Amino acid sequence: MSSPTTSQAPTPGLAAPTPALTALESELRALLGERGVSVELAARERASLDGSRLSPVIGEQLPLGLADLVAYPADAEQVAVVVAAAVRHHVPVTPRGKGTGNYGQAIPMSGGLVLDLTRARAVVEVGDGWMTAEAGATMIALEQAAARTGQQLLMYPSTAQSTIGGFLSGGSGGTGSIRHGSNSDGFVVALDVVHGLPDAQLVHVEGETAQLYVHNYGTAGVIARATVRLEPLQEWRALYASFDDFHDALSVLREIGDLEPTPRLVSADLPTLAQALPPDRAIPTGRASLRAILDLATVEAATALVDGAGGRVDDVRAGAQATTKVSMLSYNHPIEWLQKAFPGTYFHVEVSGDALVDRIDEVHQVYEGAMLHIEAQKGRPIGMLAGVYSTPGEVWAGFDRLTALGVGYHNPHQWFVDFQPERTRALALTTDPEGLLNPGKLQPAGATAVATGAKVS
Ligand code: FAD
Repeated sequence: MSSPTTSQAPTPGLAAPTPALTALESELRALLGERGVSVELAARERASLDGSRLSPVIGEQLPLGLADLVAYPADAEQVAVVVAAAVRHHVPVTPRGKGTGNYGQAIPMSGGLVLDLTRARAVVEVGDGWMTAEAGATMIALEQAAARTGQQLLMYPSTAQSTIGGFLSGGSGGTGSIRHGSNSDGFVVALDVVHGLPDAQLVHVEGETAQLYVHNYGTAGVIARATVRLEPLQEWRALYASFDDFHDALSVLREIGDLEPTPRLVSADLPTLAQALPPDRAIPTGRASLRAILDLATVEAATALVDGAGGRVDDVRAGAQATTKVSMLSYNHPIEWLQKAFPGTYFHVEVSGDALVDRIDEVHQVYEGAMLHIEAQKGRPIGMLAGVYSTPGEVWAGFDRLTALGVGYHNPHQWFVDFQPERTRALALTTDPEGLLNPGKLQPAGATAVATGAKVS
């Protein structure tokens, strides 16, 4: 691998580019223009990191790969052209949206080409109940475009600035998931994908076939355009409540989540976690915080539930900005803020199940300094359990203890495709026969399961 910045000597420790990389670089310059490709070390380094510092286990292993070059296609058609060129030169291709994925999934572990999709960001069309956008369009741009037609996305992640391609390939759910589940539960209508083939073109897939490309990190095809479902816009309110005690907040979390029309989000935090969030007078110091995005029609009922549990409603805010702000304090965000407040201290595990509410004191015994961030969800609550980090072994040791309590967990400290990997392996046999799409993320059939990556539902 090299630092082929033309005017500078190669960076020590980095090898010279191979003939295949040099040939690909000049082909891409011809196809995309000078601004469409970079071999600058700074650009390559930027394109080789994602949000995985959230995991101290992965953080200790960084850097896990370095791109040799970065391409910036400007539309879906160029995405196909770039992938085809890379495959002809047998160069690995790692697709990338905003790089917010938190498990290293966007790191180019075999080097090669990083396909930065953020310039291919057109919102192509908004119809009745659906919208089509290029992979690099941000979720917030999609939500805004939908709102202009009196509609809303079924769901978007707390990283609202991330891309639709990245969310479908690496994410799972977020605001809206209480009602609609994960992004593999019917959110996707159709995709235009690009396979790892030398003559790759845009391939239009719909329905069940389109689902095959969801949540597998681009290992079976790059998403160039996506059509996702919309629903009629509701009048949302951001409600902030606080409680003396986290148990009181937990006692109403599921009931608020069960209100009809279904809330878009209900999150709760212990006082220490809440205090790590950006200061807001509606998140009072020393109190457990519950934040929700509620249909206007349910604000009164939610207020009565909060009052009945000994809490108080600190504010109710209207407008898209107010609700987006509550979204951006959900899912992994409280953990990120906790890590900012206490650098180098905390790791987290993704957890699920009613035991999070019913056996919270025992859940908090699983790890030293454990603190649960919780979300009401379809069926059962989910959350992020933070703990004081010492070693990976201590993290893994908690998994059996969680299982014994009836808590499901997902280990966020590894980057392998773990959502129906056999399905992706079967698809990739024909869509990526050379294994060039995001190599290192899809384990071969029969590989020893990553002991630390088990999933319990
Ligand atoms: P990237 O991180 O760039 O990519 C994610 C994965 O998809 C990588 O494997 C990449 O190679 C692949 N990829 C990217 N674009 C494409 C494409 N067009 N075609 C094929 N493969 C592609 N996730 C949630 O689901 N819900 C949340 O609420 C949520 N909250 C988060 C909070 C924090 C603080 C952090 C750090 C992460 C959070 N995430 C969440 C994870 C992540 O931010 C989201 O999944 C996000 O939507 C990923 O989008 P991105 O554009 O950043 O993708």
